[in-house]
Amino acid sequence: MIENIMKELNSETSSLCLMNESLKKHTTYGIGGPADLMIFPKSKQDLIKVIEIINENKLQLTILGSGSNVLVSDKGIRGAVISLKNSLKQIKVSNNILYAECGTMLGKIVRHAVKNNLIGLENLNGVPGTLGGALIMNAGAWGGEISENLIHVELINSKNEIKKIPKKDLNFSYRKSSFQKDDILLSAKFDLKKADENIIHENFIKAQSGRKNTQPLSQRSAGSLFKNPENNSAGKLLDEAGLKGFSIGDAVISDKHANFFINNGKASSNDMIRLIKKAHGEVLERFKINLSLEVKLIGFNEDEIEGLC
Ligand SMILES: Cc1cc2nc3c(=O)[nH]c(=O)nc-3n(C[C@H](O)[C@H](O)[C@H](O)COP(=O)(O)OP(=O)(O)OC[C@H]3O[C@@H](n4cnc5c(N)ncnc54)[C@H](O)[C@@H]3O)c2cc1C
Repeated sequence: MIENIMKELNSETSSLCLMNESLKKHTTYGIGGPADLMIFPKSKQDLIKVIEIINENKLQLTILGSGSNVLVSDKGIRGAVISLKNSLKQIKVSNNILYAECGTMLGKIVRHAVKNNLIGLENLNGVPGTLGGALIMNAGAWGGEISENLIHVELINSKNEIKKIPKKDLNFSYRKSSFQKDDILLSAKFDLKKADENIIHENFIKAQSGRKNTQPLSQRSAGSLFKNPENNSAGKLLDEAGLKGFSIGDAVISDKHANFFINNGKASSNDMIRLIKKAHGEVLERFKINLSLEVKLIGFNEDEIEGLC
């Protein structure tokens, strides 16, 4: 069945389609088994056609940006995985309005805004990932969040309709958005402000150096593993629980930042899940705080990840 769908995609679209593609290559963790069918659409029109074909064939669909906030099971992902990291990359600035497509890397968008003396996105300097992933996660850093200056998001919904959803119809909170499960984000517009280039540049540099000083950036992670509980820090709780440096197999809790869980080489998803459960359990037992995950778990059975999320 997958082979036939791939043939159809190859004849009707210009997308790159790969069967049994290892998701290790497409996640910052470097962990994950194969996707039955991985698709890299070439353009927005291509993506629309791909989705039509996948829906007609009733194939389960998972969307990935650059895979910087996901832990994928070693069993991989059944059905189709669409990655937008190689397409939908247009950025335009007109006066103080910035438009970008959702496959664009956030870093590129931030630099584009800074170059145009637009203030409002520079605190996100150094957050990896695509704009689509950033909007789904409501990515944020140093007090700024991607949703702050948003005007609207263009998306394809579960009925295959392209819609522009104004910010007033969306809810964003800490690392959370109200997009529907099947929404596929295409582009977004932001209303930024012109400002003194020195101030923007100062914020931009501060965001970068703050990150270098506190995070293990040369190692494979998905950024912060747990969300910070209200008025507390997950990293501080994990550190106080004595978990810095604790490891299971090649899955290790960073010495530099206890909320960064690292793949030190050959960590399996099972190593990482066991490490996450251990850390979650320790914090619950010592501080009576039930940490919830910021990283999205994909491809696991419910019983494997019971008690997390
Ligand atoms: C070293 C490091 C530092 C980090 N620092 C920060 C930080 O400071 N702040 C922060 O908020 N995050 C941080 N992160 C986490 C991560 O970079 C962000 O969450 C990022 O926005 C995820 O983007 P992505 O394209 O990689 O999304 P992915 O990880 O590919 O996907 C994340 C989620 O979004 C969905 N998705 C992605 N694109 C689309 C789309 N177009 N349409 C519909 N759904 C989509 C996926 O299905 C998945 O559920 C860090 C990660 C790393 C590795």
